[in-house]
Amino acid sequence: MSTPISAPGRVREITSLTNPIIKDIRLLEKKRHRDETGLFLAEGMKLVIDAIENGWTIRTLIYSKAGRGQENVEKLAARCLAQGADVLIVSEKVLGTIARRDNPQMVMGVFEQRWTAPAAIKPAGNDVWVALDRVRDPGNLGTIIRTADAAGAKGVVLVGQTTDPFATETVRATMGSVFAVPLTRMSEAEFISFAKAWPGMVAGTHLKGAVDYREPDYTKEPVLLLMGNEQAGMTDDLADACSTLIKIPQAGRADSLNLAIATGVCLFEVRRHALNFDGDDA
Ligand code: SAM
Repeated sequence: MSTPISAPGRVREITSLTNPIIKDIRLLEKKRHRDETGLFLAEGMKLVIDAIENGWTIRTLIYSKAGRGQENVEKLAARCLAQGADVLIVSEKVLGTIARRDNPQMVMGVFEQRWTAPAAIKPAGNDVWVALDRVRDPGNLGTIIRTADAAGAKGVVLVGQTTDPFATETVRATMGSVFAVPLTRMSEAEFISFAKAWPGMVAGTHLKGAVDYREPDYTKEPVLLLMGNEQAGMTDDLADACSTLIKIPQAGRADSLNLAIATGVCLFEVRRHALNFDGDDA
């Protein structure tokens, strides 16, 4: 997996589950292996094309024998080979085992992870970044990355121990937005310093927030929107680091909203002034 990219890549046909290349790719289901290699898997033609078009580096393209002779698959394979990636043509069984499900997508890609360094974040104008305190659920994280993309947020900050944005399940839930939204990560202490240096509003969403989320003027300065953990909400230290604590009023018996839903509600309010009717930046 850690073979340096050489141009052009090689084509191999593999039908055995015990092939060492396949064993190595299957290990990417484990976070430890993803962390060690800096690689991850994306499933499906759309995701693989989105990634390549957004400039992500593909190491290996994998497709099932059924894709042979299909123009779109062969074109993609030629493009990947030209970029130095290897191409594996595999049996349905091998593909299903890598994807860990029946009826897998015909195409998968092994990509290099990409993280934005905190120092590279230069908030300006009315930029919005979303920060997530210890997000645990892969579906929530994937949905939030997708929502951040749709709302035109500049990126997502992962605070403390969070679920891995490059887990296959999370990548799938982003529907390709993981390739469009910059991701950064930091400890709680680093986030507190980051929030202190933030040149605008640090809006924490909190069930004890005193301010209705529709009240603040989000149009004048960069906004850092901080969301709490699914079970515990945000820590007191993080709440203290916010310049305002906002709340979404609720009716009914539910004591809180799902994290991804609350993020969507707040994010579209924060970005309301910037989105025109077609959903593009005004
Ligand atoms: N038991 C947790 C608590 O006491 O905070 C509930 C956490 S809630 C499921 C996850 C996160 O979604 C919260 O930390 C907050 O960021 C956001 N959230 C959910 N409902 C909210 C609401 N009505 N107003 C503001 N934020 C909310």
